[in-house]
Amino acid sequence: MTAAAPAAAPSALDLIGNTPLVRLAGPSRAAGCEIFGKCEFLNPGASVKDRAALAIVRDAEARGELSPGGCVVEGTAGNTGIGLALVCNALGYTCIIVMPDNQSREKMDTLRALGAELVLVPPTKYSDASHFVHTSRRLAQETKGAIWANQFDNIANRRGHIETTAAEIWDQMEGRIDGFTCAAGTGGTIAGVGLGLKERDPAVTIALTDPHGAALYSYYAHGELVAEGSSVAEGIGQGRITGNLEGAPIDTQFRISDAEGLRWTQALLREEGLCLGLSSGINVAGAVALGRQLRRGGKETPRIATILCDTGFRYLSTLYDPQWLAARGLA
Ligand code: PMP
Repeated sequence: MTAAAPAAAPSALDLIGNTPLVRLAGPSRAAGCEIFGKCEFLNPGASVKDRAALAIVRDAEARGELSPGGCVVEGTAGNTGIGLALVCNALGYTCIIVMPDNQSREKMDTLRALGAELVLVPPTKYSDASHFVHTSRRLAQETKGAIWANQFDNIANRRGHIETTAAEIWDQMEGRIDGFTCAAGTGGTIAGVGLGLKERDPAVTIALTDPHGAALYSYYAHGELVAEGSSVAEGIGQGRITGNLEGAPIDTQFRISDAEGLRWTQALLREEGLCLGLSSGINVAGAVALGRQLRRGGKETPRIATILCDTGFRYLSTLYDPQWLAARGLA
């Protein structure tokens, strides 16, 4: 055993969080700064959402809402479902996941393999009663002993990031951090890490990186929720101020295209050996934009952190399939 190897974890749930931070050479060079990625793809469920899943389940238990034999129901683009399925298996709960049917095949197969009951619904606007979020809420109400995880508005999600992700990033950056950025799905990560870092140093710049097709860029730039364009990125792109986003300390914002995010996703694979999903590439593009902005503001070599959200192995049939990309004009 090397000196750095951690001691045995008491349980599989203790493997969630405490992920490594890695310096990203290509993005750092491109921006003239130091850019670091938080390796959330190394969580047991291979995404950042294991943290929210564990935080939400532990919160429900603490409030006495979830007891042995209980069930957790959630609407999710997939990664939260995978995290919840793992956590539920480890704690003896059943799990029902409602997901739009346009998410990657790998996520559906993974959820079924983990033993979650998977309910697929057609993608539709949030205002439709059949939207996956509303469907999951109804299912939770109809299921005996079930709780609705409600990741979008349940702030146990962002509290998990304040207590773990933000604290870890601060320690791993040795308290020397000028900026943090990531995209929002629920907003739990950006709000939680933003609040946690500002608590330690109010001068850290928190930037929202928004994909096309989402409304948050225009909200933080001009105060209006207006979406423009579209994106194939899974798990990010929000059209409203969720409970988790309320009061998020956003100082600046960037809008990143799929083409730009994909260029970074491919560069990270080819040049650094990191196989990641598109939201990670979009986050890294945002980190490069933030680094350049801080340099223009006079900071010599800004130190920026972002999130490497999930593994690219989840998207072999999409992002990593040249035909799939070509069909979407992204080759
Ligand atoms: N990237 C991916 C791949 C995701 O699944 C999610 C979660 N929806 C996010 C980013 C965004 O995380 P959050 O929900 O904390 O905003």
